[in-house]
Amino acid sequence: MKADKETKSGNGSSRDPESDGLIMSHFGVAVEVLFDSGERRTVRVKRNSGHVVGDRVRVAGEVLERLPRKTELRRRDVRGGIHLVAANLDVLGVVVAPMSPAGFVDRAIVAARAAELEPFLVFNKCDLDPARELAEVLGKVYAQVLPCFTVSAASGAGLETLRTFFHAGHRGAFVGTTGVGKSSLLNALCPDIDLKVAEVSDYKWLGRHTTTVSTLIALPSGGELVDTPGFRDFGLVDISSPEIAAYFPGFEALEEHGCRFSNCQHRQEPGCAVAELVAAGEISDERYQTYLELLTEVEVIEEAAQRRAWKK
Ligand code: GDP
Ligand code: ZN
Repeated sequence: MKADKETKSGNGSSRDPESDGLIMSHFGVAVEVLFDSGERRTVRVKRNSGHVVGDRVRVAGEVLERLPRKTELRRRDVRGGIHLVAANLDVLGVVVAPMSPAGFVDRAIVAARAAELEPFLVFNKCDLDPARELAEVLGKVYAQVLPCFTVSAASGAGLETLRTFFHAGHRGAFVGTTGVGKSSLLNALCPDIDLKVAEVSDYKWLGRHTTTVSTLIALPSGGELVDTPGFRDFGLVDISSPEIAAYFPGFEALEEHGCRFSNCQHRQEPGCAVAELVAAGEISDERYQTYLELLTEVEVIEEAAQRRAWKK
């Protein structure tokens, strides 16, 4: 069991398996904690208490102390507000199907890397010809720089390799636009999800109107996935403009080639190594446009932040 492993591999000194645990589910007004001892208990929290699924906590009575986080996954809502989705994930699965909009994959990879999560790609619906073709095309672009899985949630094809990947102890979430099959994948990887959700709603004192905000699902074969209803797209959060180039897939080789100017933004500057990659067809025009869009988007956010700072 993961919790046992964590206890042993930790620094060992101050951990108490009776009081330390992991937040498995968040219900808005309460969280379910899986203690290192193996016990599961629901603890009340204030609304907006700042705890999220994946947080390690120390519980004393009804007081929850949050332990330091390794990573944070955040999203930006349509009004620009920033929300924490989950803590301590190490991987992010970007789910792709033929309806995925252009640029989504690169945007998601950049966002994942900036949050210090290892991105991987899941080409879903490969029981369908267009999806298989898309997987082949994208595989040529991305398979060199990150793990890629060609699967079908519907037929079950390819899911075994995905399970093996998680089995290594990864904790992650799926992102992707509506309809690519994120829920179907979760269900296929963990067939008894519905059952678990039913168990959890046995806590009657939570009231009938409590909805589960998010849940950490332990896969039967090992590893964990966060199920966050409503979490689909996510804007670029806390990324600086130079980081866009640092994290953009395919720009990894830049260190070798190098641009003439060390502060090159890869726009129109002379002696730009990215321009050479684009000219040589190693980076497609379409993907280069995505890079420019991401860069502009982050600069707009940075400028707005600067204006706010000047006003103070
Ligand atoms: P989500 O919005 O990303 O959670 O997508 P869903 O899991 O709700 O799936 C959207 C639609 O795609 C549903 O009609 C699913 O049945 C269908 N779907 C999901 N995975 C597959 C797949 O592997 N193959 C096919 N043919 N359809 C799929
Ligand atoms: Zn450049």
